[in-house]
Amino acid sequence: MIGFDYTKATSAQAAISAVNKDASALFIAGGTNLVDLMKRGVMNPQKLIDINALPLKTIEQKGNTIHIGALAINSEVAEHEIIKKHLPLLSQAFKAGASAQIRNMATVGGNMMQRTRCGYFYDTAMPCNKREPGSGCGALQGYNRMYAIFGTSDKCIAVHPSDMCVALAALDAVVLVTGPKGPRKILFTDFHRLPGNNPEKDNNLTRGELITGIEVPINAAFAQHSLYTKIRDRISYAFALVSVAAALDMKGKTIQSARLAMGGVAHKPWRLTAAENFLKGKEATVANFQQAASLVMKEAKSYGHNDFKLTLTPNTIVHTLKTVAGI
Ligand SMILES: Cc1cc2nc3c(=O)[nH]c(=O)nc-3n(C[C@H](O)[C@H](O)[C@H](O)COP(=O)(O)OP(=O)(O)OC[C@H]3O[C@@H](n4cnc5c(N)ncnc54)[C@H](O)[C@@H]3O)c2cc1C
Ligand code: SF4
Repeated sequence: MIGFDYTKATSAQAAISAVNKDASALFIAGGTNLVDLMKRGVMNPQKLIDINALPLKTIEQKGNTIHIGALAINSEVAEHEIIKKHLPLLSQAFKAGASAQIRNMATVGGNMMQRTRCGYFYDTAMPCNKREPGSGCGALQGYNRMYAIFGTSDKCIAVHPSDMCVALAALDAVVLVTGPKGPRKILFTDFHRLPGNNPEKDNNLTRGELITGIEVPINAAFAQHSLYTKIRDRISYAFALVSVAAALDMKGKTIQSARLAMGGVAHKPWRLTAAENFLKGKEATVANFQQAASLVMKEAKSYGHNDFKLTLTPNTIVHTLKTVAGI
């Protein structure tokens, strides 16, 4: 591992200005992703700004919104009473991620900022446009079983690895950020990026911006009918091959509105807007769920080893919706 300087920030402003004035500085929270990447030489910050002392751990209800601080620990959010009551989908998604030990260290902000688990990105002997822009993409012609089927480019076909983020995308969360130009809010679905020509950029944060928290609207109907399904190679400690976060507002058998997002299929949490629009006002039937899934699959493209996702994806959507609707 390379040598680096370490500073513990005592205020958000101090942390922001330390990162803003030094191009090789990075925030560190739980360290569960960043330290791995540093050990492998994938990321080489010369200065780490430890943000763990900042007062960003609160989980609370403010009116009709749940506020979760960026430094709230994944396991604590998952088990918090107001999260289990109002956002059970988010609680399930947290519990589906990583292992108990990692969830005890990982923070909400760090989870959002975690890098892809693409093996070529981690292997500094291989080409990777995300790690080294312009070097090529090892996965396109390589072993691409875990890779994306939506929103890819000829520069990168990696997927975003987070489970938490899939639930937050479905639940219309908003990201609270502060930086050199002051605070701003970003819709969760606009936070992460598709690869396009710049796969080195995972998200739309600008240099020096700090995530301070997220806000999630409370929706009692969605809390009653929601589910996070994660399909993976083993039951724990594995990233999603495909995952689905689903929430339905049901009146009898009729769907008033639906929220759907997927993980393991794109460079960002993949919101299924066409399927949501199709399901609005429809009966909860297997045929309607299959049609919603087929609308989603219109945009899919596979790369060989991940061809199986063309079947697994609609099957997981239909299975999740059937379970949520209780049919
Ligand atoms: C073996 C293993 C298995 C895993 N399996 C899963 C899984 O199945 N599902 C899943 O979702 N995740 C999984 N993870 C990933 C895990 O969730 C992340 O490592 C963790 O959430 C990162 O949080 P952290 O606080 O440790 O981030 P750190 O490692 O401290 O930071 C990660 C990045 O975020 C930046 N950052 C941190 N906080 C902020 C902030 N407030 N504002 C701006 N930037 C910030 C840092 O600069 C850094 O670039 C796994 C990890 C490991 C090691
Ligand atoms: S898929 Fe993306 S992250 Fe993986 S090797 Fe290609 S460019 Fe790099």
